[in-house]
Amino acid sequence: MSGYDDARTAARALATEAVHAGRDDLARQGLHAPPIDLSTTYPSYDSRGEAARIDAFAATGAEPDGPPVYGRLGNPTVARFETALARLEGTDAAVAFASGMAALSAVLLVRASMGLRHVVAVRPLYGCSDHLLTAGLLGSEVTWTDPAGIADALRPDTGLVMVETPANPTLAEVDLRAVAHACGSVPLLADNTFATPVLQRPAEHGARLVLHSATKYLGGHGDVMAGVVACDEELAGRLRQIRFATGGVLHPLAGYLLLRGLATLPVRVRAASESAAELASRLAADPRVARVHYPRIGGAMVTFEVKGDPHEVIAGVRLITPAVSLGSVDTLIQHPASISHRIVDADDRRGAGVSDRLLRMSVGLEDVDDLWADLDQALGGTASEADATSADTGTRAPAGAH
Ligand SMILES: *Cc1c(COP(=O)(O)O)cnc(C)c1O
Repeated sequence: MSGYDDARTAARALATEAVHAGRDDLARQGLHAPPIDLSTTYPSYDSRGEAARIDAFAATGAEPDGPPVYGRLGNPTVARFETALARLEGTDAAVAFASGMAALSAVLLVRASMGLRHVVAVRPLYGCSDHLLTAGLLGSEVTWTDPAGIADALRPDTGLVMVETPANPTLAEVDLRAVAHACGSVPLLADNTFATPVLQRPAEHGARLVLHSATKYLGGHGDVMAGVVACDEELAGRLRQIRFATGGVLHPLAGYLLLRGLATLPVRVRAASESAAELASRLAADPRVARVHYPRIGGAMVTFEVKGDPHEVIAGVRLITPAVSLGSVDTLIQHPASISHRIVDADDRRGAGVSDRLLRMSVGLEDVDDLWADLDQALGGTASEADATSADTGTRAPAGAH
């Protein structure tokens, strides 16, 4: 549909798609890097033709053939990223948005516009996703349940079932195939931000909508904010219509950066996952750490509960960056109860397994021994080997600006 997906080749391996999808037309045009199209409007002397193109978009949401009419209706550079992500996730299409939250909002609006306002969701979810549903900001009503309770929670007006696996921040995993089965005809949305298509392709397990905060691993360098939904063409058309009407479009420069990020996604995820698994096992053997969570499917995220004061660990890191977000080339650590999940009611948050002593670490591409050395010194004062209640709180010099 985007016109760039003309490699009607047999299935290519993920690493090949990551580098080539969305770029298959370039060499024949004598280009190597994809062009960045910054146009907000597209001239045409044929206004009858434009009317027909606009009618076609209003009917199906399919991307117009030829150039877009207006930047909010589509952009060729963004379309390259959408084509590539759809190929990586194994879906017909993908629709990009200004952020992960704009992407989730568009999904909720698509379903609400069909009169299906009820959402069934499994905690934990990313804090702002939880908040958007709990507060009913877009007129939705949520029923929280565990995976086993999904079938019973469905109602005639249920428009969506939503899960994250591995979930932010506990890395809890759900069996996507079993959950998709429990959904029956209700579309399952799987937030695949943490796993990325390198480790898991939810559409293969029955998820009809695969959501990413592309701000994280897809961009991969902490310098672009974006969201994307991979899905079938029917839902993609509705998502494009909602995007057109509500305006949460992705900027073309962001589309360019995301396409560039995808090229190294498999290499980045595999390298960071190797370090994350190693750090998880060192943390699990450390007496200062009460509990470590690391997903069965792997990945570059590690969460752990410290015996001492988690705020002291955050204050103590030097190489690791104390910051929210994840999926960058550098290692980040944050305290979910203070930051990423602060907006969730404290009882709901704890009920979802997000303990006040939990730290969430996004492992980057640094040398694993350097990372361990930093963690080791940051953990140093959080508890004595025997037991502790943050014995030396206040004695550590604060970390310098980093
Ligand atoms: C960050 C995040 C989001 C929200 O994405 P933004 O790009 O920050 O809007 C949604 N889901 C998960 C799992 C996330 O980590």
